[in-house]
Amino acid sequence: MGTLIQNGTVVTADRMENADVLIEGSTIREVRAMIDPMGHTVVDASGLLVMPGGIDAHTHMDMPFGGTMSADDFLTGTRAAAIGGTTTIVDFAIQTKGSRMRDALDIWRAKAEGKACIDYGLHMIVTDLGSDNGRQGLNDMDDMVREGVASFKLFMAYPNVLMVDDGTIFKALQQTAKNGALICMHAENGSAIDVIVQQALADGKTAPVYHALTRPTKAEAEAVNRSIALAEIAGVPVYIVHLSSEDALNQVREARDRGVPAFAETCPQYLLLSIEDQMPGKSFEEAKYVFSPPLREKKNQPKLWDGLVHDHLQVVSTDHCPFCFADQKQAGKDDFTKIPNGAPGVENRLQLLYHFGVNAGKISLQRFVEITSTAPARIFGMYPKKGTIAVGSDADIVIWDPEAQHLISASTHHMRCDYSMFEGWQVKGNARLVYSRGELVVEGGRYIGGIGRGQYLRREARGGAWQ
Ligand SMILES: [Zn+2]
Repeated sequence: MGTLIQNGTVVTADRMENADVLIEGSTIREVRAMIDPMGHTVVDASGLLVMPGGIDAHTHMDMPFGGTMSADDFLTGTRAAAIGGTTTIVDFAIQTKGSRMRDALDIWRAKAEGKACIDYGLHMIVTDLGSDNGRQGLNDMDDMVREGVASFKLFMAYPNVLMVDDGTIFKALQQTAKNGALICMHAENGSAIDVIVQQALADGKTAPVYHALTRPTKAEAEAVNRSIALAEIAGVPVYIVHLSSEDALNQVREARDRGVPAFAETCPQYLLLSIEDQMPGKSFEEAKYVFSPPLREKKNQPKLWDGLVHDHLQVVSTDHCPFCFADQKQAGKDDFTKIPNGAPGVENRLQLLYHFGVNAGKISLQRFVEITSTAPARIFGMYPKKGTIAVGSDADIVIWDPEAQHLISASTHHMRCDYSMFEGWQVKGNARLVYSRGELVVEGGRYIGGIGRGQYLRREARGGAWQ
């Protein structure tokens, strides 16, 4: 006895067909037309799209930042994700300077344990390779790969906190040639930005907009270029997180044109929001849009969409990292550098990409599935368990109503944050039913699954074999 999804249009990254999908237990048993319904619970998906659940490869639940914590924990954050049609996240554990990666992994798994509502993987943020000329940290990376941590993130920004030097980046890149993991880069030239920031503050420029104005696109492009060059010397792929500008995109495209395995993600906020519209420099409300890289000038938006269409960009993640406006963002009332960096988004990613991508005719339905689910599954070692609708894959399925109207608002969203970056935006297309490993967890905008049912995902380090 299984669940038979009938009469829907099945959409994956490589095909679109009228087919039934039979779920048995936690996996997909059959995908074909006219499956005999005898003995199964039948779900009628007439007029609906049947797609692999979304995968958000960039979230920060329960994350410490500048003396506060991101407002969503693994319960509220993954529940909101599920309601928006996302069935897997990859979050970030943080190895702090002087500590070991295993300790960080234990801490982050404990944060998620008993709370996560959907399956989750963890990247490891590396801040320090430790003793023995880095040997300890490089061994720790291998250890993490054995624990299913198939990707690491390093920062070129946030001096004295998260930033690492080029030697550390290069050593980590070289290590992935041996252990098959993937290095993710936060690419902004933190040293130069820090100088510009200090000069702005000295000039009395303390408003939120100066967060954006002190982080030029060239500082992003330079770091993207440097990341790719270092990866090329090491002979390994590299993945640029939250790419935000045309300048940075040009670096990725130029490398890919030469056949270099450079990959990059962008986020809905960079595709849809801008300095001109959200940060005119008029009020502290603009702290809602303080994150790094910052919002860019509007002219970057069509370039990023174009990058998604032509596969210069492979993934759309959210960088979900909410801080409430009423209390947390206020920390930077007199100094933009004290505003916690981050914003909510995990719940709205599919709605926004569907409405402004598919409905607007910018991307095809199949490309929508690819950039929101299949590509992150492949790149981060979860495919074909996750990221597709195929026999044997986990039954992580979103049944999508392309006609559903939805008004995005903090008053109705499920993220634990008192504002939405997209407040009052009307979108068409929304998740109606969401299955996670065969279990119906969302129905009509409500989470009905268990708390803590999400499982830790041991991801495979494939050494770029997914290319
Ligand atoms: Zn992030």
